[in-house]
Parts: sequence; structure tokens; C-alpha cells
Amino acid sequence: MRTAVFLDRDNTLIDNAGDLADPSLVRLLPGAFGACERLAGAGFTLVVVSNQGVVARGGGSLREVEATNDRVRALLTPPSACRPLAEAFYFCPYHPQGTAERFASEHPWRKPAPGMILAAADELALDLARSWFVGDAERDIRAATAAGIPPPRALLIGPDRPLADLAAAAEHILEQAP
Ligand SMILES: [Mg+2]
Repeated sequence: MRTAVFLDRDNTLIDNAGDLADPSLVRLLPGAFGACERLAGAGFTLVVVSNQGVVARGGGSLREVEATNDRVRALLTPPSACRPLAEAFYFCPYHPQGTAERFASEHPWRKPAPGMILAAADELALDLARSWFVGDAERDIRAATAAGIPPPRALLIGPDRPLADLAAAAEHILEQAP
């Protein structure tokens, strides 16, 4: 089984001040590409898991979220490579306070629930007991913990935290991982 680093998308990998659903506005955060390159180079499978309640709120369509993820994939593809550094992207379009009827409910994939992580582990044969998670919100850590990736392998990043960004988290993981 392979070992993964699960990554939150918004404000972990890319800058997202609000409900981003426009591929042309996707910007990787500083250091994010290099962090992914180092983690993938060390043999980790990178999996992006993202709540996209923007769909339930009517601020974007499934197609727009997919196009946005396609743009993230493109930005995470090294010039000499044909595949992105992140192997898989999962997102959850549901939100209990949504206005789009089809998606206005709670869902087992919506963080802090662990559904996306568990689905990825099953589909990609990932060893959760050795995997890591990096996110910028408490719900990320709760989802990771519920999936069997508790702290200290679930890392909360942020400008006021000991690990400021994905680059610092990657450094930490590479120091700790055997
Ligand atoms: Mg986030």
C-alpha cells in the first residue's frame, strides 16, 4: 500500500479568498509547487480533498469546480512531465445551508466528515496509518482524525501557526517520515 499526503485545496494549495469557481483566478500559494514536488519525489501519493459548498450555495457549478481543479492540476504539472504532482482530486459540493436543492444537505464527504479520505484510501490503496494530512482549518484536522490520521500526522498550517504554509509542512513531513 502507498503512503499519501492529503492536501486541502483552498488556502493550503491555492489562494481562495471566497467562493472561487473561475479557473482563470487560480493561483498556487508561494512554495506550494515546490512542496508538492518534494513530497511526490519522496514517494508520497498526493491527494487533494476539498469542500466545495460553493456549488450548494449556487456560486458555481460542478463543471466550474472541475474546471478549477483542472487548472490546479495544470499548475501542478512540472514542465517536463505529463502528469500532475497530485494524483487525485476529490471534492464535496454539498452544504446543509445550500440554496441549490440538489446539494442542500449534509454529506459523508463533507469535512469534518472523513468520507473523501476514506474513499481515496479505498480507491488508491493508501495506508492511512502512515499517511499525512495538511490543511488550514480545524475541520480538516477533524476529518483527518476521523479517517485515522490524527495529529501529529494531521498538520494545521497558517501564518500564525508553527507551520506557516505548505512548504513548512512538507519540510516537517520529510524530516519525520522514515
Ligand atoms: Mg482550506
